[in-house]
Amino acid sequence: MSDALKSVEYGRWKLRSDATATRTAYAKLAAGSPQECGCEPCRNFAAQRNTIYSRAAGALFEALGIRSDREAEIYRMGRVESGRHLYGGWFHFVGFIVSGADAAKQVSENVWRPDLESESENFGLGFTSRVHLVREPFKGSPLVQLEFKAHVPWILEAKEPQ
Ligand SMILES: [Zn+2]
Repeated sequence: MSDALKSVEYGRWKLRSDATATRTAYAKLAAGSPQECGCEPCRNFAAQRNTIYSRAAGALFEALGIRSDREAEIYRMGRVESGRHLYGGWFHFVGFIVSGADAAKQVSENVWRPDLESESENFGLGFTSRVHLVREPFKGSPLVQLEFKAHVPWILEAKEPQ
């Protein structure tokens, strides 16, 4: 990490982040997971990033150096009562968690559940030091995983999945 560590607070978390190192790593990524995958649920998500990521989330991404169209992973879990689709996903950034209970809550020996903070009824996020699917430019740096969940309408003309 460079010596440009910034303090960032969000919900119950206090973080230290190297936004410069994070931006440098994101600049090396050609696309986010939804574009790389290209399946219908991924395309449905990518078409709505501007509304899925709230203004507050956008400001947080900016402060951390995260590029909002370069997700490490997104996945669709199914339809919820509102008729929207439940998605989850995550980003990485260079830094560490100073305080705040990890967003990956261990519930038994091999089972972790996301423990995120809701920003609205349709969007929530949290931070964990359990990282998965780390892209090449991030390897070797201390990382935090920003994990989110979102309720997203189906807007593609393609047949809506259940
Ligand atoms: Zn996909």
